[in-house]
Amino acid sequence: MISYGKQSISDSDIKSVVDVLRSDLITQGPIVKNFERALCQRVGASHSVVVNSATSALIVACKALGLTSGDILWTSPNSYVASANSAICCGASVDFVDIDKETHNISTEALTQKLIVAEREGKLPKVLMPVHFAGWPCDMKEIKILADKYGFYVLEDASHALGATYKGSNIGDCSYSDITVFSFHPVKIITTGEGGAAMTNSEALSHKMRLISNHGVTRDHRLMTTSSEGAWYYEQLEVGYNFRMSDIHAALGLNQLGRLDDFLSSRSRAAEYYYNMLAQLSLTLPVHEVNYPDAHRSSSHHLYPILVESSDIRRSVFDFLRSRDIGVNVHYLPIYMQPFYRHLGFEEGYCPVAEDYYKRAISLPLYPDLSTGQLDTVVSAVTDSLL
Ligand SMILES: *Cc1c(COP(=O)(O)O)cnc(C)c1O
Repeated sequence: MISYGKQSISDSDIKSVVDVLRSDLITQGPIVKNFERALCQRVGASHSVVVNSATSALIVACKALGLTSGDILWTSPNSYVASANSAICCGASVDFVDIDKETHNISTEALTQKLIVAEREGKLPKVLMPVHFAGWPCDMKEIKILADKYGFYVLEDASHALGATYKGSNIGDCSYSDITVFSFHPVKIITTGEGGAAMTNSEALSHKMRLISNHGVTRDHRLMTTSSEGAWYYEQLEVGYNFRMSDIHAALGLNQLGRLDDFLSSRSRAAEYYYNMLAQLSLTLPVHEVNYPDAHRSSSHHLYPILVESSDIRRSVFDFLRSRDIGVNVHYLPIYMQPFYRHLGFEEGYCPVAEDYYKRAISLPLYPDLSTGQLDTVVSAVTDSLL
């Protein structure tokens, strides 16, 4: 089976983990700090807090922004459930903005319209969470203008988008947002096994996020309410969690980060291969940089979702590909269609573009170590599936 996504682990990755295992500290040692510093350097943000998953990072980010009961977070329905769940975990409510037909990211037109209505009804969101779907950056400039106009925070779910660029800046440098979150799950751009990071340019937000991911406890004298009683002394200032990343995981992440440019070029090469080889088929291919020269953005090519012509044939094409041992997948069933969200009152038809997209989408395998032979196998199977 050629899976839809897969980590690439090198000998140097393995060595970096083994080195930690042979060292004195396997958690809360020096490597987490080094990884955080390297992430800041790579994407150009001032602060980063690495934690045990992107889901944890989204939760601490929402909490640091003060999201709580009575507040509303808006996000894209075309995302993994964790995007919306993070707000529910804070006691807030969630609403969804339909996606753009071409990029499958949150639609700025739909967002603009929804904000006008929400302002009239006094139901503006406290936080907007754009999701850079498949690695293609959202319209961050337009989103920032709306954020300034209506006074909401912007929290980027960049789980797919480490290494993507937008108008000359890196996703993660928070030029247009308060916080940006990355995932280091094995199918994502780099991996720590499980892991995630929250990037920000606000020192206050970074302190809050670090506090919440570490039991609400600090040893930082600058944050304490009284003067330290000695080297043993720590203070709990809030209630928090243990969302920390271990040095074992951070060592893998740090070494993987050094391989990021290779990963991005391999992913881009595989995507180009698909664009060329699938161009003549009756499919809609993912948004492609060459068709959007004025967008000034580059994708990290996390996913390669193709759209078949109608929902009627999606099932048969999907099953055919699986029968040929191609590990295709579907990203995503609109989050509000999940039973949990339906129980909150969301109904079919709420975001028609996201629903139409979902019914026709199939994600083809895309990861750095895909060989040309494997890409050919996928291309032949897709071609045969449409005969
Ligand atoms: C993978 C993913 C997450 C969750 O990441 P974890 O690191 O597995 O917690 C959140 N949002 C999106 C869009 C994702 O793809």
